[in-house]
Amino acid sequence: CGITGYTGSQEALPVLLKGLESLEYRGYDSAGVTLVDENGLYTQKRKGRLADLEKEMDIPSFHQTTGIGHTRWATHGVPSQLNSHPHTNASNTISIVHNGIIENYEPIKEELIRQGYKFQSETDSEVIVHLIDYYYQGDMLAALKKTVHHLAGSFSICVVSTDHPDEVYVAKVSSPMVIGRGKNGSYCASDIPAILEYTKDVVIMEDGQMARLTPDQIEVFDFEGRPIEAKITHIPYDL
Ligand code: GLU
Repeated sequence: CGITGYTGSQEALPVLLKGLESLEYRGYDSAGVTLVDENGLYTQKRKGRLADLEKEMDIPSFHQTTGIGHTRWATHGVPSQLNSHPHTNASNTISIVHNGIIENYEPIKEELIRQGYKFQSETDSEVIVHLIDYYYQGDMLAALKKTVHHLAGSFSICVVSTDHPDEVYVAKVSSPMVIGRGKNGSYCASDIPAILEYTKDVVIMEDGQMARLTPDQIEVFDFEGRPIEAKITHIPYDL
């Protein structure tokens, strides 16, 4: 029910966890993060409280500067470790978090299974990572664009991959997503309080938009992949 993403010059894990804590009011039953560098993805997730995830992660050993985080409010599949987000592809090179509901996940899942994909979870969300994997040929924006065209329902999505270890990709329809660039990097989250510490100039994403976050840039696109000028909202106070 909450999403955070970060890429920049700082260690990502504390940024992600702190952001998720500020979204705790939205309620959740599970929490997880994926950190990424050129050597791989590091995913940790579990049912239960953020504080327990935090304890488990032994923070000093994670120095990655890009990652995504999630607190889940289960809609499809019980609260469990396997159903927690992030969800990764079989080669563990792409990881996603999702808020919302993919209403047409069943036919997509059946088709992906026919294509040889294996599912780890009972969630509607897992189709997203396998669809991206299916379409990915080196250009993540292109793969995300093809993926969102299949999805019905509500979603805010964040994606990271080992091929692009300092990029976070985002897409949104009917679930909230804000992005912003601060002194030490680029941030995304499902609500403003999670990024307000880092920037007061936020882009409140609109339905049908995608974005690419790099440490010093945020770029917004429509679902056809055409660049859109980011509309910046200045938040003049601390929430
Ligand atoms: N529908 C997804 C699930 O059940 C995402 C739920 C959420 O927004 O946290 O895993």
